[in-house]
Amino acid sequence: MSHPNAEASHPFLVIGSGPSGVIAALGLIRLGHRVLMLDCGKTPEKDAKKLGLQNRALPKSGLSFAVPRKTWFGSEFAYAPVGQQLGTGLVSSQARGGLSNVWGAASLPVTAKDLESWPIDLQDLSPHLAVASEELGVAGIRDDLESIFPFYAEPKTALDPSDQARLLEGHWKMRRDGLAKKGFRFGRSRLAVSAKNCGMDGHCLEGCEKDAIYHSTKTLEKLRANPSFQYLSGWQVIRVDEGPGSDPDVQVVARSLLEGERTFSAERVFLAAGPIETTRIVLQSRPDASRTLSLKYHPYFLLPVLIHQAVQAKSLDRLHTLSQLFLELDRPEISDRPVHLQIYTYNSFLKDRLHRVPFLLKRAAVIQGYLHPHSCDPIQILAAPADSAGKVELQFLAPKRRNVVKKIRQVSQEIFKNQFRLGMTPILPALKAALPGADHHTGGQFPMAEKPQSNQTDRLGRISGWKKTHIVDSSVLPDLPTATLTLTVMANSHRIATQAVAPNRLPHE
Ligand SMILES: Cc1cc2nc3c(=O)[nH]c(=O)nc-3n(C[C@H](O)[C@H](O)[C@H](O)COP(=O)(O)OP(=O)(O)OC[C@H]3O[C@@H](n4cnc5c(N)ncnc54)[C@H](O)[C@@H]3O)c2cc1C
Repeated sequence: MSHPNAEASHPFLVIGSGPSGVIAALGLIRLGHRVLMLDCGKTPEKDAKKLGLQNRALPKSGLSFAVPRKTWFGSEFAYAPVGQQLGTGLVSSQARGGLSNVWGAASLPVTAKDLESWPIDLQDLSPHLAVASEELGVAGIRDDLESIFPFYAEPKTALDPSDQARLLEGHWKMRRDGLAKKGFRFGRSRLAVSAKNCGMDGHCLEGCEKDAIYHSTKTLEKLRANPSFQYLSGWQVIRVDEGPGSDPDVQVVARSLLEGERTFSAERVFLAAGPIETTRIVLQSRPDASRTLSLKYHPYFLLPVLIHQAVQAKSLDRLHTLSQLFLELDRPEISDRPVHLQIYTYNSFLKDRLHRVPFLLKRAAVIQGYLHPHSCDPIQILAAPADSAGKVELQFLAPKRRNVVKKIRQVSQEIFKNQFRLGMTPILPALKAALPGADHHTGGQFPMAEKPQSNQTDRLGRISGWKKTHIVDSSVLPDLPTATLTLTVMANSHRIATQAVAPNRLPHE
């Protein structure tokens, strides 16, 4: 492989090792460039996995359906403090691999309609959706959902659905037309999971013993095998300074517990610290940037359901417990974009709560629902001026929720009204509408625009005044995708990184 910038004094610098960081780095490395990745890089506590596996055997009890925080074998290393939260449920990460250490791996692409407010179209993004799908290893089957969410790479072998999911899917297939008339379309889940490595042990939600679920450390390890890639962990980036006038380099100031403060020089910088940490870095770098920003999110809810037909108790435990089925509800009077519903059947969470009521356990499932951000006002980010150490404190303010909760109730009522077509009855009193931001699908505070103004960025993720610093994570999405976030974020990150350095080259060339 040739190295076009081998003589250049400084590498390209990527900040963060989450999904948006590793895919940008991969694009740059494949184009033959040198890449330095700086990352807070927190790793799990020693023995976390061993202890987590031991704890699985311990009995748990309680009937509460409060949403528990998803952990990695009981460890919360993937989560970092967010700032002052006024009624929001935001999370951020300073971990190696970012939030992909605990994500649910659900992977649907953005739709052409979602891109209407973007300065690029589906044709621009498609080759990068293909690269991101391939890297994630999106597994699934070709079914009705393809008409809304095409595959951009050949799907990998799908995981076997659970018996409960098979029952529901069979029921829906027999009522396909009736469901379509009511605005429901359905299909199997699409997951970034390797079916051949999956142990089907029913513990996906607490950490995968066989490491079958994609996390971005997998791509990071691949990158680290390449001599043109360097990874420095334990470095928290404070700010980015583009040199004045003719200075060709970008200076990145970072702090490490062991080495104190250091400045790294880079030819270009790609900022992939996740929407919250990216906001902090931008505002610490640019005192002139807007101090009030709007963060988009998907209003999110959990709705337990009882499936009408019970499965055999003995068949319950051999399954994966990520999302089994996707159901899209298209009802313009509720939202101008479909509501995305993910069906989780029997899992350890339900087992812990319902093990004393086997009758329920054989029928229980949970719907995780996501409304489009168009259904709600955004979260406000308020930034204080930098302190003497140059640090900016952020405050996150939840919007009023009355309308959103009403819409979530409307969706639940639609499910209730169609319970016989859907073969499941929602337990409406157990509906839980989560706090804004608890969906973990947030972004859009520095949206790309054709003619960027104030806090907007250009189509390569640059805010005004920056020529060589590109934001590549969800911060720059003008509109969030209808369904899941990460596949689209990765595709856009790959597009920005590769087009910034090779504007006329397509990924497969
Ligand atoms: C419980 C849960 C379930 C989810 N399920 C899904 C799902 O099913 N489907 C889906 O599409 N999405 C899901 N998500 C969202 C998904 O995890 C995120 O979209 C994705 O991780 C974002 O990637 P990122 O690289 O932009 O940021 P992150 O994953 O947040 O990574 C940020 C990286 O930046 C580094 N960093 C941060 N600050 C600094 C700094 N100052 N200096 C240096 N490095 C820094 C961190 O160490 C980290 O490596 C889920 C998230 C959670 C929490």
